[in-house]
Amino acid sequence: MSSALRRSTPYVVATLPPPPAPPWMAVLEGLPLAAWVVALADRSVVAANAQACALLGRPLAELLDAPAASLLATPEDLSYWEGLDEQAPASLHSQALLCAGDGRLLHVERCIRPVTAPGAAAASHLLVSLRDRSAEQQAGDDRETAAAELRATLEATADGILVTDLAGRIRSFNHRFAQLWNMPESLLEVRDDAKVHDWMRRSVDDPEAYQRRLAAVQDAALLSSSEQLRLHAGQVLERVSRPLWQRGRPAGRVYSFRDLTRQLAADRRIEQLSTTDGLTGLPNRSRLSERVLEAAAQSRRAGEAFALMLIDLDRFRQINDSLGHGVGDEVLRTAAQRIQGCLRHSDDIARVGGDQFAVLLPGADSATAETLARRVLTAVAQPSHVDGAQFTLTCSIGVALCPQHGRTLDDLVRHAEAAMREVKDAGRGNFRLHQPRVEDDLRQHMRLDHAMRQALVSGRFRLNYQPQVDLASGRVVGSEALIRWRDPELGDVSPARFIPVAEETGFIIAIGDWVLSQAMRQATLWKERGTPMPIAVNVSALQFQQINFIDRVASMLAVSGLPPHLLELELTESILVRHADEALRRLQALSRLGLRLSIDDFGTGYSSLAYLKRFPIDKLKIDRSFVRGLPDDESDAGIVRAILQMARALGKQVIAEGVETEPQRAFLQAEGCAQFQGFLFSAPLDSLSFEQRLLRRGGAAVG
Ligand code: C2E
Ligand code: MG
Ligand code: MG
Repeated sequence: MSSALRRSTPYVVATLPPPPAPPWMAVLEGLPLAAWVVALADRSVVAANAQACALLGRPLAELLDAPAASLLATPEDLSYWEGLDEQAPASLHSQALLCAGDGRLLHVERCIRPVTAPGAAAASHLLVSLRDRSAEQQAGDDRETAAAELRATLEATADGILVTDLAGRIRSFNHRFAQLWNMPESLLEVRDDAKVHDWMRRSVDDPEAYQRRLAAVQDAALLSSSEQLRLHAGQVLERVSRPLWQRGRPAGRVYSFRDLTRQLAADRRIEQLSTTDGLTGLPNRSRLSERVLEAAAQSRRAGEAFALMLIDLDRFRQINDSLGHGVGDEVLRTAAQRIQGCLRHSDDIARVGGDQFAVLLPGADSATAETLARRVLTAVAQPSHVDGAQFTLTCSIGVALCPQHGRTLDDLVRHAEAAMREVKDAGRGNFRLHQPRVEDDLRQHMRLDHAMRQALVSGRFRLNYQPQVDLASGRVVGSEALIRWRDPELGDVSPARFIPVAEETGFIIAIGDWVLSQAMRQATLWKERGTPMPIAVNVSALQFQQINFIDRVASMLAVSGLPPHLLELELTESILVRHADEALRRLQALSRLGLRLSIDDFGTGYSSLAYLKRFPIDKLKIDRSFVRGLPDDESDAGIVRAILQMARALGKQVIAEGVETEPQRAFLQAEGCAQFQGFLFSAPLDSLSFEQRLLRRGGAAVG
């Protein structure tokens, strides 16, 4: 049969053996599957049904006569066809890949059966039937891909994941899960649910609560929940549990575990940083502000008063400048501890500024505040030893009361600050309760400044002289000039009040100049009268730092004709520690002039042994705050002894100031102090009284 003929008739079968040819096409069309028939003799397709044509995407004409092997795609199939035993072909049921007309590969399930024509001895044909599994294959592939994607996603998340069924059996997990729970891989590989659960239970801080809550979570199959678990090892895990749905029904739970440890620590640190001071670990101003608001609310509700105490370290800047920030930090920490040690349980302390602390005293009236303030003053003034430096730290305390002085932190701080300033002005190292003034501080300040200038031009300043006494002989060996001011409007104004104002405005230079010349004039007079008496003059830091200070002193000495050894300059420790090199040059120049130099208020500043050794200082004046506690206060006694010892070692003279009692005097004498000054012997006297009482009796012994 020609091929043209074959093509024109769709169901003609090629190279069929002689009749009776089986009606292949009719047989095939009846089948529900794609099927074709292959002649065993030459393995070419002799018939194919419409499904086969559709499946393979080829017209029948193309299929007929085509070699069966050409429809295949895998080498395995090829070898099947090649190895076919014509005599006894085997049935074959297999998965195969076929090549569609458009080049697509088709996944099929293929069944090949030998067909024996009726009456024939052996099989002459093979019936090939196919079931297309491409769609299923695709779905399977998709499933595999989805599973792989899921796996990769699981492993890529930073959370530990555990999936269980409703009975709590473990379905899957990721490695992060094992890592978070510090679980051996072996436990998970075996997937022994009981052991895994047991491990988790035993790892948490409170296994019973854990178990209880887990059971509650498992019971509520439809709900999501979240909670924090604390592990023995210290970590905190957040467990989020969500239902796992399958075909619209809950089928299990997905637990995700997140390590919150670092985040919580960071949160805590941030919270701490925002409410505490890094250096001392004390709460800071914002924290205190909250507490004050609470206390104020409580005070409104219950009518309970409270006090706010502001504590400012005296001369702290000098420590920082002279001894360095390391020492400064240590001093702040020490002060914080000492103050804290004085407080009651209910009191709140905060660091509110560089060297300032504030304490909230709930329920405190002025008497309680006073008791606590005294306690703080004493504690802070314990001798300090930091980094080889020894000194006494003092503080000035201002107290404000709620509700008298206000109800907000700002109001109270303002009032406490004003009180604290007053303490500083009055010589530091004390406390004061704020007494609201009629005028505000600034106006007061300006008024004082103005009045001071008037006083100088109107000659209202006077000098008083306080005798300095030799302890061994009881003779007056010197005097200190102390300025006095009686104002027609303000009355007697203490130098403790106006000198700091003059120092601030710079007017101290004019005052200092006047004091120096007046004192020199007096000393010259006494000398000329045959009763020479050394006079010590207080010199402010600002005055000392004036460029022409030394020339000024030298020319005044020359003009007055005063022998320089009858003049002593009282300097403060701050002069030594600030700009030490320049100070040294000036002190040497002054010393060369022949006058004497002493350090006033010694012990309250921060001059070290090294300074004292270098500087040409003749005399140390032990501050009266250390004399006050003599002889009973051990700390004061210890400090005074130490100063005396040190002075002996350095060859300096020592005078104690503020001696008011006989036991104080006796202690000083017993400890080898050479001189004293104080009310015990005499208060400062005007020049006339000084002359009458001391000079005419022949008390002066210095020539
Ligand atoms: P200061 O130099 O330490 O003077 C000693 C102060 O202690 C004087 O106070 C004196 O009156 C007082 N005083 C003396 N004996 C006793 C005593 O036994 N007990 C007590 N509690 N106090 C005693 P004053 O005169 O009020 O002076 C206070 C401060 O004012 C002086 O302290 C000094 O720093 C400053 N000052 C006084 N006059 C001058 C001056 O002319 N120039 C300068 N720059 N400052 C002066
Ligand atoms: Mg003095
Ligand atoms: Mg003094």
